[in-house]
Amino acid sequence: MVTQNRPTKELVELHFHLGQSVEPHILWSIAHEQGIKLPSKDYWEFYDLVTLNKDTVEWADYHKLFHLTELIQSSPVAMERTVYEVVSGAYRANNITLLEPSFNPMFRNRGGERDLDQILLAALRGMERALAEFPMVRAGLMMLLDRRLPKDVNAIIVRKAIKYRSRGVVGIDIAGPLAEGFKYEDYTDLYEEARANGLKTTVHTGEDGTAEEMAHVLKVLPLDRLNHGFRAYTDKALMAEVVKKNLCMCLCPTSNLSVKFIRDGDHLREVIQTLWNNGVKFCLNTDNPSMLRTNLSKEIELMRTYNILTEDQIDQTTAWAREASFVPTEHGRNIYL
Ligand SMILES: [Zn+2]
Repeated sequence: MVTQNRPTKELVELHFHLGQSVEPHILWSIAHEQGIKLPSKDYWEFYDLVTLNKDTVEWADYHKLFHLTELIQSSPVAMERTVYEVVSGAYRANNITLLEPSFNPMFRNRGGERDLDQILLAALRGMERALAEFPMVRAGLMMLLDRRLPKDVNAIIVRKAIKYRSRGVVGIDIAGPLAEGFKYEDYTDLYEEARANGLKTTVHTGEDGTAEEMAHVLKVLPLDRLNHGFRAYTDKALMAEVVKKNLCMCLCPTSNLSVKFIRDGDHLREVIQTLWNNGVKFCLNTDNPSMLRTNLSKEIELMRTYNILTEDQIDQTTAWAREASFVPTEHGRNIYL
């Protein structure tokens, strides 16, 4: 039995995907609970299938790792347990008291076989269960749109996010690898519709793309925050624009290192210190913690290992994350219960 001490610092995490955030043994249990026939009956083979078993991976193969976990989570029963385990586990393991897990409901319905409303209601129920057990925690769900889906399918996700806003869906985001025919400017109207209906908006940008692409995204989408965005470090005018718009960047060091977008510790230091020196607000996140075998405490530790940030600077990034959160606070600590 591992003994645990009450942690002192409360942490905040705003950028991580539910598909890659469930501990492998829990995912294994969720799969068996539903009678899903897995590619292997050997737990450790399964473990290697759902985690990155080497330090780096090609970007083209990165998203293939998501398929099995999304399949296992594709039912109301699975989504309720997934969100419950992730929210409660984040508190117990890393003292995260404010968090915004994200997922794409269209990748949880077995191609339309399952009802989206039931999936979303189950996810919200899982969140409520965790919040009831740990009343010091606040959380809200982020709905992911995907660059590979047609706009009319992504529009359904936005409408569902709006429908469940009062229950705990806090915002929308676009993720996934860049796909043929996808244009950010096609999403201006959906982003405006989401905001007009009380949702907040963020987007994956400045990750696999370039600083130029990111500058374009900032022009065409109304945004409250950024996921990744680190590519801006090469472009002073773009960093000034990010500062002017008061957009906090939700950075994910291990994720960027694993696909070699950031080469090594020296490169990570250069990126993060350049952002800091140009007044860009940012916070630390895990992106895909169970798949990358990381957690928020390890991401913070990287700042110490590579002499990137001081303790005061690390605390400042947590304060920025808190400030940039989309979870409403007006009715006390936990608006959704
Ligand atoms: Zn991400």
